[in-house]
Amino acid sequence: MGGVGMNVGFSVRAVIAAWVLFVAGSATAAIEPVVLQPADAEIALAANTRFSIDGGARTTPEEQFRLIDSESFQPLPRGNATFGFVDGAYWFHVRLINHDAQVHRRILAVNYALLDEIDVYLRGADGAISHFSSGDSHVFAQRALRSRMPNFLIDLDDNEQADLLVRVQSQSSMQVPLVLYSQKAFFERSRDGYLEIGLYYGILLALFLYNLILFASLRDLNYFFYVLYIGGFGVVQLCLNGLAFEYLWPGSPWLANVAVPVSMALGMLFMHLFVRAFLDLRRRLPVGNRIIIGFIAFHALMVVLSMLIDYRTAVLLGTASVFPGAAAILGVSLILARRGDRAAQILLLAWIVLLAGTAAYAMVSFGLLPKIFITEYGMQIGSALELILLSFALAWRFASLRDENIQVVQRSRNELEVRVDERTRELSSTLDELASANERLRESNLRDGLTGAYNRRYFDAAFESMLTESRNAGHACGVLVADIDHFKRVNDQAGHLVGDDCLRMTVATIVKVVADRGSVIRYGGEEFVVLLPRIDEKALPLIAEDIRAAVAGTPLVTNGTSISMTISVGAAMSTVGEAIASTTLLQRADEAMYRAKREGRNRVVVY
Ligand code: GH3
Ligand code: MG
Ligand code: MG
Repeated sequence: MGGVGMNVGFSVRAVIAAWVLFVAGSATAAIEPVVLQPADAEIALAANTRFSIDGGARTTPEEQFRLIDSESFQPLPRGNATFGFVDGAYWFHVRLINHDAQVHRRILAVNYALLDEIDVYLRGADGAISHFSSGDSHVFAQRALRSRMPNFLIDLDDNEQADLLVRVQSQSSMQVPLVLYSQKAFFERSRDGYLEIGLYYGILLALFLYNLILFASLRDLNYFFYVLYIGGFGVVQLCLNGLAFEYLWPGSPWLANVAVPVSMALGMLFMHLFVRAFLDLRRRLPVGNRIIIGFIAFHALMVVLSMLIDYRTAVLLGTASVFPGAAAILGVSLILARRGDRAAQILLLAWIVLLAGTAAYAMVSFGLLPKIFITEYGMQIGSALELILLSFALAWRFASLRDENIQVVQRSRNELEVRVDERTRELSSTLDELASANERLRESNLRDGLTGAYNRRYFDAAFESMLTESRNAGHACGVLVADIDHFKRVNDQAGHLVGDDCLRMTVATIVKVVADRGSVIRYGGEEFVVLLPRIDEKALPLIAEDIRAAVAGTPLVTNGTSISMTISVGAAMSTVGEAIASTTLLQRADEAMYRAKREGRNRVVVY
């Protein structure tokens, strides 16, 4: 056996010396046994562990036991049994001496749940080797103790020295944190651990169910993606901490392995779906939208691929894709957040919290931060806070959508009111116009086109109603018939157009004299009737005379010549209370007018 050999009185200086030699490349390894004292409850074995790489994974434990004190076993790099994704089998050696007279049984736990094959060989003082197997390529029931981490029972007599060889081969990353617990400590640590994990999953489960209920009642796709994201994320965590194997598929080593990359891909898929819907990328950031769709497609493909390709490739691809995926989400939410998008700002905050937690956890692994509760559980605290923040973000988004809706409804209601008012006003003004047009139409129906005096249609109705009204009211009414004298001559001498002017002129003159005392009707060609609804015997000849005189005194001046016209007027009236027929009254006035013609024209004759 080459090398330094066994040094029982191993000192710190010797460790340093060994380190220096190791780093310098000189194959020197010394082993210091782990001395189990009565007070030792929990011993991390890393400092006392030597490891050896068995590239072909073909050596037997007997062969390895022969090499434990040789240079083929070396101290752990940086004191950690962490090697990344590696091939072959790794052998770890620890020498144990039990100085605890009371406790003969200890529990060896491998605090990394994803290892496939773990074989523990214990060679006691008598040289006999006992062998135990665990890891997730064995069904869960095969474990020594029902625990989420692989574990083994190590029995040592009082003062017994034993060599412990642990052989690990795995598709997962090679992390082998060996810890030796007293049974009491193991039980107590488990309790603490399950409380912490229970708290975490309690939050996840509550968020999951709460948002599931919200989705069921609101039918908003955001909640659906969010719930799926929590679900996928939760399964990833369950796989990583060994609970999925213990509780979800204890009988299926295949599922225990494949669930890791599948749930990782699902979690990322749902995360991207959620972010895309939540930030409304299609409308707000088309470029970002296309990038996120690319990740969605990739992760969807990864879900399927993870079940087909080998575990290591799937996990490596999945893990590698987390970084660009997270960067893309950070990028789009940063861009939108800087534009003042509230949803993006909350999402960004949630992401920063998650990343800070994860970073804290990572920094603990590298020894950059002390291992205290908040740093050790950084990822859990970060992700719980992230999920709670996202839940808030969804609630905020829902509230803002609701406010927007209320505003839209209010605005359209206001607009509708204004428009209805406008239409009502338009309608009523149209109705007014229509009414006045109707009125004008009715008027023009009752007027003579040439002179503007009332026509026969008006006369027929007005004459009868005048008689009835005056009889009912108990007063007299009168009627005048006026005919232009020798009008034929005017036409003959001055022409028809001048004759028309004369007719208009005569009407205007008569209307002016009558004013509101009655109405003027063109009864025939150059013959007019004046209805006087309220008249007495004295007034009748006076108004008739006024009209005659006015016409006679108002010549038409045209083309430098002056045409004078005269009229002959016949007047008749009803007496108070008399039920006289309209035809009779008109006939009387007509007779009187003819008498005026016969008596020399340009005069008034009262019947
Ligand atoms: P008398 O004093 O007897 O009433 O004589 P007169 O010429 O006025 O009587 P007559 O009834 O014989 O003639 C009426 C004339 O009025 C006939 C026609 O040419 C003329 N006349 C009727 N209507 C119109 C009209 O609308 N325009 C014009 N320019 N002339 C008209
Ligand atoms: Mg005439
Ligand atoms: Mg006439």
